Amino acid sequence: MTGGTSGTAGTSGTGGTVPGETARARQVADAFRELYGTAPDGVWAAPGRVNLIGEHTDYNDGFVMPLALPNTVLAAVSRRDDDLLRLHSADVPGGVVELRADVLEPGDGGWAAYPAGVVWALRGAGHRVTGADVHLASDVPVGAGLSSSAALEVVTALACADLFDLGLLRWQLARLCQRAENVYVGVPCGIMDQTAAACCAEGHALHLDTRDLAQRQVPFDLAGAGLRLLVVDTGVRHALGDGEYATRRERCEEGAHALGVQALRDVALERMDEALAQLSDPVVRRRVRHVVTENARVEEVVARLEAGRIRTIGPLLTAGHSSLRDDFEVSCPELDLVVEAALGAGALGARMTGAGFGGSAIALVDEGDADAVAKAVTEAFATAGHGAPRIFPAVPAAGARRLL
Ligand code: ADP
Ligand code: MG
Repeated sequence: MTGGTSGTAGTSGTGGTVPGETARARQVADAFRELYGTAPDGVWAAPGRVNLIGEHTDYNDGFVMPLALPNTVLAAVSRRDDDLLRLHSADVPGGVVELRADVLEPGDGGWAAYPAGVVWALRGAGHRVTGADVHLASDVPVGAGLSSSAALEVVTALACADLFDLGLLRWQLARLCQRAENVYVGVPCGIMDQTAAACCAEGHALHLDTRDLAQRQVPFDLAGAGLRLLVVDTGVRHALGDGEYATRRERCEEGAHALGVQALRDVALERMDEALAQLSDPVVRRRVRHVVTENARVEEVVARLEAGRIRTIGPLLTAGHSSLRDDFEVSCPELDLVVEAALGAGALGARMTGAGFGGSAIALVDEGDADAVAKAVTEAFATAGHGAPRIFPAVPAAGARRLL
C-alpha cells in the first residue's frame, strides 16, 4: 500500500541531517535534564512542511505534494512506567503541564492537547503506552501554515513508537496523529500534514494519494537546477479561516454527492465540463472546478519533475494560485500580493500554500533572482501598509527522525 519511507517507525528515520541539528538536540537534552533532573531516553525531530501543489485536495481523496522544511520540532523524551504525562515546551509560557495518560479526554485544552492527543490516540488504538516526560523546542513558525501542529504530533508519536516499541509504520503514525488533531484537539484537518512530517525524504517532494495513502518520493533538486523555493510567511492569519475551511469541505461533499461520486477525486479532468454542467449551484461548481484542476496540476507537476523538467513547473504553481483565489476563494489580499510582487520581479511561479486566509506563500525563483524577489515582496508589503513578511528558502529536508 505505501512505498518509499514507510518502513517501521522509529530508529534512524528517513535520512539526512540539517546543519546544526545535533547541537540543537544536545541543548534540548540539557534543558530536559535541568527540568526533570535526569537525562532523556532520546531526542527526536519532526519537520514543518510547505505544500508544493495540491491544495484543499486532501479531504477530496485527491493528490498532494508537500516537502519537509529544515525547521523542526525537537522532543526530548523519557518513558515512565506509571501513567504520569509531563509536558513542557520552551516555546510557550507556563511551566510543566501534568496529565494522566490513562484518563485523557478530548477537549483538554491548550497546546498540550497536541502531544496528549497523540498518547490518547495511540492508547485508543490498543497500543501499550504509559506516561512520559517530554520537553519540546521548535523553530517551526507557529500558525504560519507551515504545520507546526503536525510536527508536534509526529515528533511525539515517533518518540512513543520508539520508546514503547510499538512497531507502527510511518503512515500509521500519521493516521493516529491526524486522529489526535481531529478528535482530541478538535481541528478537522486532512492527512497531508502528518504524512509530510512522518514520511518526507531529503531532496524530494512527497507525492501522496490521500485515498489509499500510496506514496512516491519525487526528486526535487532545486539547487541542481539553479533554483530556489522561497517561503513567504505573511504574518497574517485571518480569523474567518476555520469556519471557511469547514464550509469548503461541505461544498465539496455536496458536489461529490450531486455528481454521484465517492469524492471529487473521482472526477477526471477530461470529464470536468460535463460534470460542471450537471451542477446548478455556481459556488459548488467553482469549488469542484478547483479540486478537479488542482488534482490534474499535481499529476502534471509530478510528471515534469520525474522527467527532470523542474524549471517548467512555475506556471502550474501560479495557475494553482489563481484557482485557489478565484474558484476556491481561500486566498487573501496579502497572499495575492506576494504572488503578484514575486511574479513581477521574475519568479517562475508563485502560490499560496496551506489552507489560506493568511499564512504563507511560496515562490519558485532563479537563484540569481532570489534577492530581487524577496526585496520586491517586502517593498510591496511596506507600500500596502502590511507588516514585514518573513522570507526564507525551503530546502527539501527529511521527515521525522531520532537524533540522539
Ligand atoms: P500551524 O500548524 O499552521 O503552525 P496550527 O494552528 O495548526 O498552526 O497549530 C499551532 C498550534 O500548535 C499552536 O497554537 C500550539 O498550540 C501548538 N504548537 C505548535 N508548536 C508548538 C510548540 N513548539 N510548543 C507548544 N505548542 C506548539
Ligand atoms: Mg496545523
